[in-house]
Amino acid sequence: MPGELIDGALLAQRVQQEAAAKVAALRALGVTPGLTVVLVGDDPASAVYVGSKERTCVELGMNGETIRRPATITQDELLAIIDRLNDDPGVHGILVQMPLPKHIDSELVVRRIRPDKDVDGFHPVNVGKLWIGEKDGFAPCTPAGVLYMLQTSGVKTAGSECVVVGRSNIVGKPMAALMVQPGIDATVTICHSRSGDLAAHTRRADILIAAVGRPELVTRDMVKPGAVVIDVGMNRIPDPTKKSGTRLVGDVAFEQVREVASKITPVPGGVGKMTIAMLMSNTARAAEQLSGVSSR
Ligand code: NAP
Repeated sequence: MPGELIDGALLAQRVQQEAAAKVAALRALGVTPGLTVVLVGDDPASAVYVGSKERTCVELGMNGETIRRPATITQDELLAIIDRLNDDPGVHGILVQMPLPKHIDSELVVRRIRPDKDVDGFHPVNVGKLWIGEKDGFAPCTPAGVLYMLQTSGVKTAGSECVVVGRSNIVGKPMAALMVQPGIDATVTICHSRSGDLAAHTRRADILIAAVGRPELVTRDMVKPGAVVIDVGMNRIPDPTKKSGTRLVGDVAFEQVREVASKITPVPGGVGKMTIAMLMSNTARAAEQLSGVSSR
């Protein structure tokens, strides 16, 4: 029997409904959650992401503003925008869309955002809170979305072997941090490009999470029968049969791995949908925490 699909669209909708309910409760108390995204330059992919963040904010009843600046903006000008947003009581979440132009130090920019408005969860304070298990911090949206998928799909995490392939600061490392927390209780291995025999690690996984950026790297022989496979990868590959000439694939060879997995996320329609939903959830919580009112 092929593995059961974990439906990212459905679960993302559920997260957004939960966020919308929190937003409605906060608005009734006089607080309208607000997310401001800063978009520098004219990268078309970034413009698409930012557009959908703004639309989703509005759909959920939040204020969603985008500040657009040309790639020629100086680092000081960008930092001044962040300072202003940090001080603005109507802004509860601040997100600077990456990547930034080369002349700007991205780390410095992330560190300038107030941690309690850092709904992307990339500020070192939030990274630290994630590892030590402090619940008032913000976990990065993609790994938080993956955890939500596991928890709402009946996947047993306690005592499981979880192998995360990829050690980026935005996906792999925070994913591992979430899986190892008390209450989740997985035993976690993090793999990367220097791990050597990758398959020897992945074959041990009860839960295999691929966040690599290599099309269909994970093949059937690398997966333990019955494993839960989560594919974070989003890779465009050439496909002359498509009008656009390309097709989106994950880091997992979906059709063959589905034959052995017990559950699996598709690409598209899997993890990708969760990221914006978790961003909305983080922003609603930021508004609640910053305003000191309770939506419950
Ligand atoms: P990244 O920063 O490029 O990190 C990729 C990681 O994979 C690195 O740690 C790298 O190891 C490791 N790696 C590369 N080749 C490998 C190999 N052959 N074997 C084992 N490990 C290997 O990428 P990322 O930002 O984490 O993103 C990963 C993927 O997720 C991309 O496809 C991205 O588009 C996608 N993504 C999706 C979402 C979403 O919303 N669904 C969000 C974010 C990212 P080293 O550290 O040794 O170089």
